[in-house]
Amino acid sequence: MAEIAFRNVTKRYGGAVAISDATFTVRDNEFFCFFGPPLSGKSTILRLILGLETPDTGEILIDGRPVNLASPADRNVAMVFQNLALFPHMTARENIRFPLVERKSAEEQIERKLAEVSEKLHIGHILHKPPAKLSGGERQRVAIARALVRDPVAYLMDDPISALDARLREETRVELKRIQRELGKTLVYVTHDQEEAMSVADRMAILEQGAIRQIGTPLEIYDSPASTYVARLLGSPTMNILPVEMSAGSATVAEGAITVAGLAGDGDVSEIGLRPEDIKVAPWSEGAALKPSRVYEVEPLGGYTVVTVDAGAARVRAMVRGQPDIRPEALVALSCDAARVHRFQRGGTAIRPAAEQF
Ligand code: ADP
Ligand code: MG
Repeated sequence: MAEIAFRNVTKRYGGAVAISDATFTVRDNEFFCFFGPPLSGKSTILRLILGLETPDTGEILIDGRPVNLASPADRNVAMVFQNLALFPHMTARENIRFPLVERKSAEEQIERKLAEVSEKLHIGHILHKPPAKLSGGERQRVAIARALVRDPVAYLMDDPISALDARLREETRVELKRIQRELGKTLVYVTHDQEEAMSVADRMAILEQGAIRQIGTPLEIYDSPASTYVARLLGSPTMNILPVEMSAGSATVAEGAITVAGLAGDGDVSEIGLRPEDIKVAPWSEGAALKPSRVYEVEPLGGYTVVTVDAGAARVRAMVRGQPDIRPEALVALSCDAARVHRFQRGGTAIRPAAEQF
């Protein structure tokens, strides 16, 4: 079992802060994802867990034991490298055996371990193949098997499937999720792809320039982002963030082009966020109560349609189910349920913060 915790960990390179006061707990047996843009500190967190880096301040604990001064070998956490890290001239079997052969383990023990992990990962039938003859998902399994023969307490993966093409990425992330559940081991996973993070993680942490901005399940964070920064990172198309004017108990959004009935006239609200799927697009007709907006462009994606609309001075994206008969330049009326509106104060902090923060 392995629970991994950071308590107020800061890591600097020269004068620059790479990780700033990070506090989190990855629970035993959890698929935990760090998600953030490039250079936000994701790889540094993995190197700190592995023991390749030491924090400047703060404490790292594995199963409650402080490990700041423990060597990587002593921590027994395994980094699973990308597919590319398999030796191309060796079969899957030789690749998996390699860490034990290198340690001069007894032949009998090596074969026992190989049989055990092959069964767990369902790769017994492909052991004779070299990596080039394996599918993306199979290569991933072999790479994990190679880490698994060492029997670590937890696995770390640094953007492991970013090099694969889109179709293979989708296939492989499902495999990864499945494998983690079957193995029942803690997995700390890094990605810069929001859809991948949402798809695989039991819980995730959102990073911005070395600082953790929010921790929660993907849906908790999607439904209650703690800030406009977090809100914009999740979802495709991304959340519409619009300036709002509050006065005397009523809200005006996009110069009155979007109607939100019953939005609380809270003086602190500076911006509101509307998810594209929460915006209702209706045809506008003369005499309608709602103000008209003009459709800018329409993207039919089959199962749903993305409609970009000029609403007052704002450009808003709405996602409509199916294939509605909406054309560019058409006049439409936009509305949204007050219950679906995200409210942010000046500076971007959510007014209803996420249920679970840190
Ligand atoms: P990510 O993996 O999210 O792209 P990193 O953890 O690699 O981010 O980097 C976080 C910050 O730390 C960046 O500003 C990066 O330039 C800096 N950094 C990372 N490793 C080093 C290093 N070995 N020396 C100096 N700066 C580093
Ligand atoms: Mg990185």
